[in-house]
Amino acid sequence: MSATENVLAGIARTRAWQEPLYQQFHAHPELSGQEGQTVAEITRRLTDFGYALQSVGGGVVGVLANGPGPTVLTRADIDALPVTELTGLPYASTVTATDESGGTVGISHACGHDVHITCLLGAAQLLADHRDAWSGTFVALFQPAEETAAGSRAMLDDGLTERVPRPDVAFAQHVLSHAAGSVGTHPGPVLSAGDSVRVTVFGKGSHGSMPHLSVDPVVLAASIVLRLQTIVARETQPGEFAVVTVGSSVAGTKSNIIPDRAVLLVNVRTYDEQVRKHVLAGIERIVRAECEASGSPQEPTFEYYDQYPLTDNDPTVTDRVTRAFRAHFGDERVVDLGRVTASEDFSRIPDAFGIPYSYWGVGGTAPGQPSYPNHSPYFAPAIQPTLDAGTEAIVVATLAYLGGDQP
Ligand code: ZN
Ligand code: ZN
Repeated sequence: MSATENVLAGIARTRAWQEPLYQQFHAHPELSGQEGQTVAEITRRLTDFGYALQSVGGGVVGVLANGPGPTVLTRADIDALPVTELTGLPYASTVTATDESGGTVGISHACGHDVHITCLLGAAQLLADHRDAWSGTFVALFQPAEETAAGSRAMLDDGLTERVPRPDVAFAQHVLSHAAGSVGTHPGPVLSAGDSVRVTVFGKGSHGSMPHLSVDPVVLAASIVLRLQTIVARETQPGEFAVVTVGSSVAGTKSNIIPDRAVLLVNVRTYDEQVRKHVLAGIERIVRAECEASGSPQEPTFEYYDQYPLTDNDPTVTDRVTRAFRAHFGDERVVDLGRVTASEDFSRIPDAFGIPYSYWGVGGTAPGQPSYPNHSPYFAPAIQPTLDAGTEAIVVATLAYLGGDQP
């Protein structure tokens, strides 16, 4: 019997608590940075399983040292979204919060992070219960605030790399809308890098009837918006992926006043660090040159926010994981995930350790069930076989490194 079969022989026992626990997490979602109850529940479970615990940056990390061998880290994100759930499920969330404008907003696990938590806890128990089948160290990392791009940075700022054993490889997974029971892998870039930039350009205010006394930031901003389109159209190699979107352009208050500044909010998506650097540099270059052309009296400012790093799967690790998945799930249940245009903050963690990683997808749509994308108010993964597949995927990938099985 292989190490994987040996460990997964216990899955009926974890399934019995995973299904109700999943429903409990689903019914009690917490927003990014406010995951106190969720972390408390995870902490209770990991303690029961015999893990050494560290509370790091609003998340929790469990370490299971089990003799000589490599260290494998698997990360689950745990936060929910300000989305009012419309699934009609018996365990649907009815939790609400007050938003910034004083209105009431529903909260739900519309991105499926409750699946991630439940699967990683299941894998954590299976590995703890069958220590005879493997050797090395398993690190189960539960990260807050993925949806705001703040959680992985918060854990790193709180000393994560000094406080847990340095892993040799890191994994993360996401439930997506492909077929439940299948897993999707992809070498190389798999999720885009996302950058937002708040650009402020300065003019000289004047009466609307006296434009000769002004430097008009509205005309300046309009010229910038048009010229920015050339970064993708004229500067990016055809076939490379880049998106530059100006999502907001704001200046002035009244038709007869020329304002003194304009603010542009620009969003950028890329799959390649060189392309990303070129696009961001291009934005700054064009903005500065247009300011110069307008006779702007003050240097423009660039404020970067909501920055998601590129998720770039290591080809060697991804190949090893994919072969292990094929051996366990069978070829028909292992699909090519392709590139997903969404973004994630997971890769900051392996990048901070300087280690390779692989990020894969777990299908959540059962046959005959309508398919909704993540963040939809109707997003509702089938409990099974999704939880089993997500739990098995973590165990299989981990034992490809710690189990002595050669996939
Ligand atoms: Zn999400
Ligand atoms: Zn997500």
